[in-house]
Amino acid sequence: MIASLSDSFATAQAWLFETVVQPLLFWSGLGEFTENAFEGTEWFLIGVCELVLLWLVLRPLEALIPVHAFNDRRARWNDFIYTVVHRLGAFTLVIFFLLDPLIDQFTAFLHLHGIHQFDLDKVWPGVTDLPLVSFFLYLFVLDFFDYWYHRAQHNIGWWWGLHSLHHSQQNMNLWSDDRNHLLDDLLRDLFLAVIALFIGVQPGQYVLLVALSRILQSVQHANIRLHFGSVGERLLVSPRFHRLHHAIGVGHESRGRGSLGGHNFAVLFPVWDVLFGTARFGGGFALTGIRDQLPPPQGKGRDYGRGFWRQQWLGLRRMVEYGQRARR
Ligand SMILES: [Zn+2]
Ligand SMILES: [Zn+2]
Repeated sequence: MIASLSDSFATAQAWLFETVVQPLLFWSGLGEFTENAFEGTEWFLIGVCELVLLWLVLRPLEALIPVHAFNDRRARWNDFIYTVVHRLGAFTLVIFFLLDPLIDQFTAFLHLHGIHQFDLDKVWPGVTDLPLVSFFLYLFVLDFFDYWYHRAQHNIGWWWGLHSLHHSQQNMNLWSDDRNHLLDDLLRDLFLAVIALFIGVQPGQYVLLVALSRILQSVQHANIRLHFGSVGERLLVSPRFHRLHHAIGVGHESRGRGSLGGHNFAVLFPVWDVLFGTARFGGGFALTGIRDQLPPPQGKGRDYGRGFWRQQWLGLRRMVEYGQRARR
């Protein structure tokens, strides 16, 4: 079944590339990017499959076991735009124009300076011959770096200015994972791609690693009353575990230092939170958001914007504001 699925995928990719992408490239004089564009087409199609799968599985679950009654359809629609932009549009373009050439240069730089990439096979001879084992090892290593990236998003003033856009969603839903500042998306995509390259992940494998990670992250943000039991919660980040990270007063300000402190930063595997002392289990399904967006007296009624462009603009302004505040 997997073989026939991947065959149909390859056929769809070739068809889309030959009938739409390639003619467009030649028409616009970008013929030299043919190879990158073929990869971009693969990312685009994987994104489409993700969106369909998520919608088919998570929408019925949101209707069946919601955490809260959905009272803000526009919020969900807006998050859907983020998902389309990131998983179908922007990321594909970033790969196309920026990431591929950059990675080529980076590889050349490593070779030139005699820096050898970390090789999983040297640590565990023969492991790369076991595709499934090496796949999960790579997933695990990338997740470790993602955990620290996320810690930095909360602990560095200007970065929290951007990441707070993700946290300002009070109506979390299946599309909320992608509600991020575009600049932050770009930084994270670059960061993870460079790490992946450095630890020797093959491009074909990287596409699948990112797809699996994105699907799991969408599940975590969905409006579903779901946890994985006391053992499961410690193995894989559940909607309940991640919701606690989004909870007002828990996720990012629980040590009383504004945007510092906080809990449940792990992206896929809670083990990082356990190891580094930031884990918090249980605790029900809390309300999400940021304290300063609540109306007075609890908060300051801070505006994080309702539409895509307003949210992006306010994110940039917070980045400057919090960055300056941190320097003072
Ligand atoms: Zn966060
Ligand atoms: Zn989140």
